[in-house]
Amino acid sequence: MNFQKEDFESVICDLCGADEYTKRYEKRGFWMVQCNKCGLVYTNPRLKQKKIAALYDADYFQGHGFDKSIDYVKDVNQHTGGKDGFTLEDWDCDNIIALLRESRTANHEPRLLEIGCGTGVFLDKAKKHGFDCHGLELSEYAANFVRQMGIPVETKSIEDASYPPNSFDAVVMREVIEHLPHPLESLQTIHSWLKPGGVLFMATGNYDCPERKLRGSDWFYFMPEGHLNIFSNRTMRNYLAKVGFSKISVTNQGDKLMDMLKSKEIITPGESSPRNIFKRTVFIIVRSVNHFISSGMRIYAVK
Ligand SMILES: [Zn+2]
Repeated sequence: MNFQKEDFESVICDLCGADEYTKRYEKRGFWMVQCNKCGLVYTNPRLKQKKIAALYDADYFQGHGFDKSIDYVKDVNQHTGGKDGFTLEDWDCDNIIALLRESRTANHEPRLLEIGCGTGVFLDKAKKHGFDCHGLELSEYAANFVRQMGIPVETKSIEDASYPPNSFDAVVMREVIEHLPHPLESLQTIHSWLKPGGVLFMATGNYDCPERKLRGSDWFYFMPEGHLNIFSNRTMRNYLAKVGFSKISVTNQGDKLMDMLKSKEIITPGESSPRNIFKRTVFIIVRSVNHFISSGMRIYAVK
């Protein structure tokens, strides 16, 4: 896609408001810069909001946009293919439930909102784990699949959605926060939607990962048309603390780690982390190693 000069705008750091930065990487004519004050990495100049909105068309959601890994048609085919083993989504649900139990009396049917729920791969799992599920999704095409599962979905952005304060026990955002033009404002809104003791779970890329250090601008996560902010462990923690979250945990666990721990029977379904002291020690060591080699991060925080 070709862009004109007037399609771009310069922005300040979303996290701290500073406008002094250092240029880090160039990709497809865009610059990823790093704030001199707080270290946040962001695309600057970036496409104007109207241009960005136009990127999320039907083609984007079918794998022909700037992020080729998004393919809702493929998701639906896999989803309806009958494969229903213990997946990373199940583990995420176990983690959320464990945190809810820790922070307060878990509700009989905790209310969960997934922002950017796509075709409902996660919500379908969450429903099986006993959550009362709700979705927010920009793609009407994807939202319709979720509605067919009997899960209510609003096709709105975070800014346009109007959930009442204190209405959810858990909010989930997987691979979404990097797309948001104003993550601070969005996190404040999400914080207001959560009940006290409620859990926010997110997954996104990790700027600190070895793959970025090795591959530079070729790191797959640099998609400057739509990935507007890139977080590190530190900037993510700073965001969440600024908004008022506590018990912030950033881990880099992923599919491969879960598969390995499961095959060695270190973790079992229904347990977010093992209670047995030997298994727990192995779990912590393996997860720590994984923390330094994974290119993504998974974030849990409590209101
Ligand atoms: Zn900053």
